[in-house]
Order: sequence, then structure tokens, then C-alpha cells
Amino acid sequence: MTSIMKIICIGRNYVDHAKELNNPVPKQPLVFMKPPSAILVNNKPLYYPEFTENLHYEAEMVLRICRNGRHVQQEFAPKYYEQIAFGIDFTARDVQSRLKEKGHPWEIAKGFDGSAPISEFINLDRLLNPKAIEFQLTKNGEVVQSGNTKDLIFSFDTLICHVSKYFKLQVGDYIYTGTPAGVGPVKVGDVLEGSIEGKALLSCEIK
Ligand code: ZN
Repeated sequence: MTSIMKIICIGRNYVDHAKELNNPVPKQPLVFMKPPSAILVNNKPLYYPEFTENLHYEAEMVLRICRNGRHVQQEFAPKYYEQIAFGIDFTARDVQSRLKEKGHPWEIAKGFDGSAPISEFINLDRLLNPKAIEFQLTKNGEVVQSGNTKDLIFSFDTLICHVSKYFKLQVGDYIYTGTPAGVGPVKVGDVLEGSIEGKALLSCEIK
């Protein structure tokens, strides 16, 4: 991770999640960013922010960009990522709702310090099913989100093409690729654990 990396995030990229929050299914990827200070590594805890009363987890697969590029064409998109991690896009849902109502930017609801825990990265070619990656999030041992990247509305390759029209992709950038259904609140003392293809990768306690 370099200090100038970008954290690009995709909203509403699974139909079942768009529906659970009563949002329309988008015709183009919905893109937003978090600052590098949002990243939490090494299974560090997240301290419940004082500005929200409805902190939600969103389990997401995260790509790491491995080459620089702009205006990437679909056929070359697979060359831009070779590793994946388990990430959580923490969202202050009450703050986000108030901002959305007014049509305001939602950075403070999603980009606050520690809002982007991330696991170690694993090579895609070491997965059983790189085109249909199964992942799961548990809260206090109970499964709360089960996803599969075959259900993405916009594939990894499509996201690379779309995002690189606006932002130069640079080595070390991350793309949080969206969350499946099952998002929900956490409280102090909860422990979230994320796995990819059954392999435990991320743990995050709310303090
Ligand atoms: Zn998200």
C-alpha cells in the first residue's frame, strides 16, 4: 500500500442488495471513493464512530490494481488485476440516508477513518473458481452475507473499463466491487469474520 493510492468503490453491484435498500438497479456502475486513511489492516478493530447510530457492514471482494492504465479496453482488463482480498465497506447508514435525501455527496458516511478493513491479498489463480468466487461474512459466528461474484451486475472487467475512463488506474489502487444482500447493523462487541472459498481471511471487532 502506498500513501497515494486510491480506494475506488462500487455501489449497488448485486441485484439482491440494490432491492433490499429499495434502490434502482443501475444502468452504469455507481462509483465513489474512500481516502487511504479509511483502510484498516492486520485485523485491527473498528471503533464505533460517535457520529452514527446505524453503522452497517457491507462485505465486498476487493481487487488490487497491478498495472497503470487509462481507458482500458475490455479485452485487456484482466491484465489489470491478479489479486483479491476480503474487504468491508462500513457505512454510517443514517448519515448516508440524510445526505442522499438532499442529493449531497456521501463521503463522510462511507469514507471515515477505519471504514475499509481489508484482509491480506490472495492470487486469483490460486482460487478454485476465479470467475465465480464465493465469499461469506459472519457476525458473531452467524452467516449474515453470502455472495458469489458470478452475480455481479458489472463484472470485474467491466468495472476496470468504466473506472479507467475517469480515473487513471495506478499500481496499488483498490477497487471495492460491491456488496450482496444481507447488509446490517453492528454494535460494540460484535465480531465480523470474512472468508473467501471457505478460507478465513478477515476478522474485525467493533470496539
Ligand atoms: Zn459497498
